[in-house]
Amino acid sequence: AQNERATSQPSKLKVSFEFFPPKSPDMADQLWQTVEALQPFQPDFVSVTYGAGGTTREPTLSTVGRLIAQTPLATAAHLTCVAATREEVRLVVDEFKALGVRHFVALRGDPQGGVGTRYEPHPGGFENAADLVRGLREMGDFEVSVSAYPEKHPESQDETADIEMLKRKVDAGATRALTQFFFDNDTFERYLNRVRAAGITIPIVPGIMPIQNLSQLKRFASMCGASVPERLDRRFEGTEGDAQARAEVAADIAAEQIVDLAKRGIAEFHLYTMNRAPLTVATLTRLGLGARSSSLSGAAA
Ligand code: FAD
Repeated sequence: AQNERATSQPSKLKVSFEFFPPKSPDMADQLWQTVEALQPFQPDFVSVTYGAGGTTREPTLSTVGRLIAQTPLATAAHLTCVAATREEVRLVVDEFKALGVRHFVALRGDPQGGVGTRYEPHPGGFENAADLVRGLREMGDFEVSVSAYPEKHPESQDETADIEMLKRKVDAGATRALTQFFFDNDTFERYLNRVRAAGITIPIVPGIMPIQNLSQLKRFASMCGASVPERLDRRFEGTEGDAQARAEVAADIAAEQIVDLAKRGIAEFHLYTMNRAPLTVATLTRLGLGARSSSLSGAAA
């Protein structure tokens, strides 16, 4: 498999960064400062999320447009198919295409009633993420990445059903999967072995979440079906009231996770930046990636 060449040289690691579209001028300033700070790490690509049901259509389009126009970064647009007709999706794809987008991260999106409610395909829409991948491949010569869930998606009956869906997305033309964040590398390795045993050969790129705020992360993780091991509580013990110390711990945790995965032969990583640079910079600096030294002030909330 392409992303499992053994590497003992962190400088050979490939990274990608995920951003979300800003909701206010202040958040836009923060995003552009983040983009500027992360650009020197020469990511393989960056990606911008897209609200399910098209809720962030305009801000995603403008963020992607600005990244393409004003930076040298290869920029992927996330796209969801929930609550949209095929025609609506096609129109958005045309707009992204006109901006210069050549890479989509194709997703179904959460059901309109929120996580935990039942997903119903739109009567005139794509049935699921695999159907969307097929549609995108028909609409243009696009690179298409998809999601993968090392701890299974909360809606999946079991891991087998989950990997079967990934296989359908690959058969439809996906060439890379980006995973939900996870913190237990053994869980990821077991998942990867099952994925390979199912005949899936595309790169499965671990999603790495540097921990900005442990309590918030736990709430979010419980909705996504991702677990947060107790050992992480212990790592942060004694850092209450000391943002700098928390940031150091968070960067150590993320860097250690990447180093361990690299030892297991993984060479590509997708970092959830939360539109903030300091923790991502600190993590990559610990890996010896990029020459910049980082100030950690304000890195962890
Ligand atoms: P799929 O891959 O289609 O399905 C995930 C799993 O759920 C499958 O393995 C399958 O077994 C099971 N499943 C799917 N449908 C059913 C069903 N009807 N019945 C039973 N089981 C079912 N969301 C956004 O809104 N915008 C984004 O930009 C975004 N980016 C993401 C990026 C990454 C890397 C990841 C991991 C997730 C992202 N999400 C995003 C979240 C994603 O939209 C949700 O997790 C959503 O619930 C599933 O979409 P999917 O494409 O992953 O689904």
